[in-house]
Parts: sequence; structure tokens; C-alpha cells
Amino acid sequence: MAIKAVRGVRDILPSETGKWQRVEAAARRTFEAYGYREIRLPLFERTELFARGIGDETDIVKKEMYTFEDRGGDSITLRPEATAGLLRAYIEHGFQVEPKPVRLYTAGPMFRYERPQAGRYRQFHQANVEALGEPQPAVDAEVIAMLMDFFRELGLVERLALHVNSIGDTADRAAYIARLLEYLRPHAAVLCGECQARLERNPLRVLDCKVPDCQPVIEKAPSILDSLSPEAAKHFERVREYLDALGQAYTVTPRLVRGLDYYVRTTFEVLTTELGAQNAVAGGGRYDGLIERLGGPADPGVGFAIGLERVVLLLEDHDAASRPFVLLIPLGEAALRRLLPVTRAARQAGVAVELGYGGRKLPRELERANKLGVAYAVIAGDNEIVSGEAVLRAMGSGEQRRVPFAALAAELVGLARKDGAP
Ligand code: ATP
Ligand code: MG
Repeated sequence: MAIKAVRGVRDILPSETGKWQRVEAAARRTFEAYGYREIRLPLFERTELFARGIGDETDIVKKEMYTFEDRGGDSITLRPEATAGLLRAYIEHGFQVEPKPVRLYTAGPMFRYERPQAGRYRQFHQANVEALGEPQPAVDAEVIAMLMDFFRELGLVERLALHVNSIGDTADRAAYIARLLEYLRPHAAVLCGECQARLERNPLRVLDCKVPDCQPVIEKAPSILDSLSPEAAKHFERVREYLDALGQAYTVTPRLVRGLDYYVRTTFEVLTTELGAQNAVAGGGRYDGLIERLGGPADPGVGFAIGLERVVLLLEDHDAASRPFVLLIPLGEAALRRLLPVTRAARQAGVAVELGYGGRKLPRELERANKLGVAYAVIAGDNEIVSGEAVLRAMGSGEQRRVPFAALAAELVGLARKDGAP
């Protein structure tokens, strides 16, 4: 029996990679325009980094990590997110001496043991951005605006909604959790099983529950915005003012708490209504204190993660960009040898060329040209070798003309340029 891929893990097939490349190019272009530099990080880290960096009580650390002991007896975890590893690198390489904010981005696979479904996988990809060492609320607004510029670049911005919130500082949150518990406990009986368990362990997560039965209770819950300290409230007010100044629309959503323990003050999410329950395409926030918790300096930070599978799911199919432009059809060995250098010269000039290898008859090759969707075919047999001219056929119209072999490569390059083809 043939061996299949692991459950929840998928191949990204050639029919999809065009979209992935578009997404990756848009991320790179957008982030670099804002001064971010790429950092490439390992896919696994010591388990304790995530336990400390994400929080023991989070769903990720409690239920979703791929953890194993390596042959040397160390506990290793495949990264479920990128921020902890990125901050580990920031501390390890002494980035704090650089001008602030230190702006870094990275992208790649993450691993979480979750129930696989459309838009939710066990190996998935994120693009991550972090601005480190700058406490000013203008950075929060700039980071959020950049995230939306990424979606704009992909033509998705009209189909997405930006939600922002502040969850205050650690003390504000403690005070709020007490208020929230007071409110939730009397309603415990009508909450879903998971929320009943969360109630004592991580009550903020109740606000994030998507079970319909829980919604009426969640809707009437006290707002965390009423529990903010004056400093945290001021910070959030500034973030909103700067977003306004940037012309960035948003909705304030007090129930937006996010699943990671490390956030303080600003949190945000970008949601779509088009992917069912998998409605979050990106999320982020401020995490002052986390770098210190990981053994580094007391540098603040703000950043986000984009779920790339979900972005790709939203993109329309463009016609395949990687179609070859021309098929060269040699009929016989002599013609193959005459066309090989033409093929090479055209490819070196960046034209996507497909070559027949001399073994098939002309009708079969023309059929192949149609299937490949090439714009032109070049046909050469013994007669053409003698005359010194190949036949150039426009596949759309069927029109044919003769081109000397010596001019063929340049002719193909010229046609490709005119066509804007690869
Ligand atoms: P969700 O609420 O969908 O579980 P999350 O809060 O766990 O998301 P984050 O840790 O904030 O997600 O990760 C940022 C983004 O990564 C999410 O908004 C989502 O787009 C994407 N993402 C998270 N988990 C998965 C997964 N298992 N498969 C695919 N994409 C994912
Ligand atoms: Mg999750």
C-alpha cells in the first residue's frame, strides 16, 4: 500500500504555488517598504521556550504542541508560533543595541496538533512581523496599518474587517478577570463544556468561544475597556487616533482577547466572513514584558502573525503564470541538434521554452502545444534544416511564417517581451 501524508499536513501543489508566491511577494514588498528585515529561524526550539514564552495555560501549550525527546534526552518542540523563537534570537544575538524599534519579519511553517479542517492544519504557514524596543502607541498603529497594506496589495482589503481592542496591563487584566468571573459564575450552567472548564483556568478565553449557546452570555459580559488603567486607556486612545490619522478604518471589539497569554494593551485581529469558523486571517498585539520574561532586556514589543493558508484560500485563481511561452518541435535527430542551442539561448534570456525531444510525430506535438497552452510552436524537420529556416506557428491563429535558425532565439525573446510572457 502506498504511504500517505500525515493527517492535517498537506502538499502545496504546483497548481497552488503561484498564489503562494504572490502572497509571499506581497509580504516581502510591504514589510520591506516599512523597514523590516527578514530573519530566518529554526523550526524547533527547546520546549521550555514555548512553555515560558506562550504560557502554560494556553490551548497551544496545553494541547497543541508537537513535543518529543531527542536522542540526547532534550525536550524539543516543533514551533507552534514564531514570536517566542524570534525573541530568543533577539536576546541571543544582542539586537537590543540596535536603533529602536528593531524591525524583523519571518515566514514559514508552524506546527499545532489541532483537529484538521478547511483552513486549519497541523502544519501551516505564517508570516510574522515584530517591532521591538519601542513603547510608543504610534508603532502599534503603524504595524496595524502595514498589515492592512499587505491585504490591500493582494486586493483583499474590502473583504476583511479589522478589529482592535486593548486588554490593558497585567494588573488591569487581573482586575477585569475578577469582574468577569463574578459575572460568569452565575451563568456557568448555560455555558458549553469547554467554557465551564475555562472558567476557572483561563476565563478570558470564554469571550473567544464560538459555540452559539455561549453567545448571549458573552454579549452581556462587562467590557475590559472599563477596567483599563489611565495609562493603558491613554495608550489605546492614541493608537486609535493614529489609525484615524493614517486613514485606517477599524472596529473596536472589547471581546477580542486573543489566545496567547503574553499580550498587553493593544490586540487586533483581521477577520473574514468567507471561511466559516476559520475566520481569523491574522492576529497580533503588544507584548511588553515578554522579552524580559524570556531572560532578555525590558524591551517592549508589538507584532502580528498572518495565517497564510487562509489568505491563499481567499485569493482568486489567476491564470497559471508559469505556462511555457513556446514549444520547439524538432522532427528527427538533426533538427533536435539544431534546436537545442536555440532552446538554451531563449531560456537564458528568460523565455519559458518547452522542447520536444524528436521522438514524436508532428500531430502529437501540436496536441501537446495546445495542452500546454503555449503561444507559439517552432517546427523543424529535415527540409527546414536544408533551407536554414524553421517554421514559427502562432497557436491562436494557426498562422505560420519562416524564421532563419540563426535569428530564432532573438525572435522568440522579442515575441515574449511583446507578449509580457515569462
Ligand atoms: P484560531 O482562533 O483560528 O485558532 P489562533 O488564535 O490560534 O487562531 P494565532 O495563534 O493568533 O491563531 O495565529 C495567527 C494566525 O494563524 C491565525 O489568525 C490563523 O490565520 C492562522 N492559524 C492559526 N492556527 C492555524 C492552523 N491550525 N491552521 C492554519 N492556520 C492557522
Ligand atoms: Mg488556535
